[in-house]
Amino acid sequence: MNILPRLSIAHLPTPVESLERLSESLNGPRLLIKRDDQTGLAFGGNKTRKLELLLADAMQTGRRMLVTAGAIQSNHCRQTAAAAARYGFDCTLVLTGEPPEHYSGNLLLDRLFGAQIIWTDRQHREDKLQETFKRARDDGKNPYLVPYGGSSPVGAAAYALAIQEFLAQSVHADWMILASSSGGTHAGMVAGAHIFGYSGKILGISIDEPEQVLKVRVAALASQTAEVLGENQQFSADDIMVDANYLGEGYGVMGTLERHAIETFACQEGLLLDPVYTGRAAGGMLDLLQKGIFKKSETVLFWHTGGQPALFADKYQSELNLPES
Ligand SMILES: *Cc1c(COP(=O)(O)O)cnc(C)c1O
Repeated sequence: MNILPRLSIAHLPTPVESLERLSESLNGPRLLIKRDDQTGLAFGGNKTRKLELLLADAMQTGRRMLVTAGAIQSNHCRQTAAAAARYGFDCTLVLTGEPPEHYSGNLLLDRLFGAQIIWTDRQHREDKLQETFKRARDDGKNPYLVPYGGSSPVGAAAYALAIQEFLAQSVHADWMILASSSGGTHAGMVAGAHIFGYSGKILGISIDEPEQVLKVRVAALASQTAEVLGENQQFSADDIMVDANYLGEGYGVMGTLERHAIETFACQEGLLLDPVYTGRAAGGMLDLLQKGIFKKSETVLFWHTGGQPALFADKYQSELNLPES
């Protein structure tokens, strides 16, 4: 296997904890949680692991600036801005939306970390990102383009290594369930399962893509991720498990599914989920548990990917802040 250059940023290994009260109340299988919301770096989340490899890659090639893009409440952008600050990079974020009057949640943190923000709309995001990158390069700023969600093969490789970390924790899990969006986390896990010998199922709950689109994306990325790690393995869409039944009203729209999951994890386990990713994925998992998809003898692990600063974005905070019923 190739050893990739890697910075040491994350607090690893992240703990695996048992969700005793939740499993009991559901009269269901044993439930575990892998706490990648506790990876460190500006409130943690799954992007910390990816950034360990992406920043090392940027440094090796002498770059001085990070350019990336995302949604207005992007966790990826918040963590990229924090990593840039820590290692002395300039950082420019291309965000979709309009500058709000009041900065909150992840966006507030982007600004605290000193990132420059460029606003665009969804339709022009890719052009704006390329244009921003090219201008920085022409200005001699030596930029590094961090892909959406940090999901290049190098970024995704961090989640292959996370599977190696999990296996060393000697905990058994028949299922791993995670929020899957740009697909790097999911793809890295699939590649890692193959390389390091995890034989359970890895189910990605889609956050914003139809099932087949996400399967194809994750399979291609998993193959490329295996390749950067020096392993020759081709994955096909059929190798990837995706459930796209929980897309609700679309990306970033918190509905009853997400609210219910956030409240359930908070009240029964003292754990915080986020309104965009883990709330949706855990909501899907609770629904699948209710439907009896998992055997009672099985162990189901929810891989927490972070995102909690979005709870304090004005939009979500006000939606969660309903009078007691
Ligand atoms: C980015 C993100 C995800 C999705 O990870 P991908 O690798 O983009 O699929 C899941 N959860 C949280 C909290 C995230 O910020």
